Amino acid sequence: MTQSLLTDGDLSFLDENYKRVTERAAAAALRAGRSPDSVRLMAVTKTVSPLYINHMIRLGASLIGENKVQELQGKLEFLTEPCEKHIIGHLQSNKVRKIITTVDMIQSVDSVSLAKEISRCAQLNGVKAEILLEVNIGDEEAKTGLPTEILKETACEIAEMPAVLIRGLMCVPPICETEAGARGYFEKTRVLFEDMKGYLGDRADVDVLSMGMSSDYEAAILEGSSLVRVGSSLFGKRVY
Ligand SMILES: *Cc1c(COP(=O)(O)O)cnc(C)c1O
Repeated sequence: MTQSLLTDGDLSFLDENYKRVTERAAAAALRAGRSPDSVRLMAVTKTVSPLYINHMIRLGASLIGENKVQELQGKLEFLTEPCEKHIIGHLQSNKVRKIITTVDMIQSVDSVSLAKEISRCAQLNGVKAEILLEVNIGDEEAKTGLPTEILKETACEIAEMPAVLIRGLMCVPPICETEAGARGYFEKTRVLFEDMKGYLGDRADVDVLSMGMSSDYEAAILEGSSLVRVGSSLFGKRVY
């Protein structure tokens, strides 16, 4: 069912979706020999109205992700439930100052220049910005994210910045026909994540591996994801 067909009173589809996603995520964690608590669920809320978002938060999805600064800003006053907010879409440097004190994490850091601006704005506001580096794990030309071959040098440079704290990696792998294909990219990302823990050492706090969306969150959990970003399986098909 699409959102546009629903009246304000009919939110039970959200309860069902939330239950299904959390059950599947927990089952995947157990299959991987992991505790279900070791995987956080993010509700991806792009195009979703605050009415639905608030309900989803009440159900237990206390972490939300938005792609666009403007969309997040427009919704803030209507989000009545307390929640953690992450930016997960491509971020332009000139938008950083608008959200630096609003968001809890920026998951989509894909350049040294963006990280510099984040550090500058964080310092001005007396905060430390928590970030993930986004890696273009399929090395696809049309995609954002750091190319794998410059990930290490970029991470080392960003780790020196005074007001950012690198918390880990985020990826959006190429669209795969098979679960095995997706798992291959997730495994590759996990290897980069483990490497990063080693070479950054105590210059960072690398413990977040953000991978998996509606179509592949179970595969991602099987490969070690600690944070899955789920939109359409929770809220229904997006209506732009
Ligand atoms: C939209 C989006 C998601 C969620 O996508 P679904 O397929 O709807 O679950 C996750 N991560 C990023 C970066 C996104 O842009």
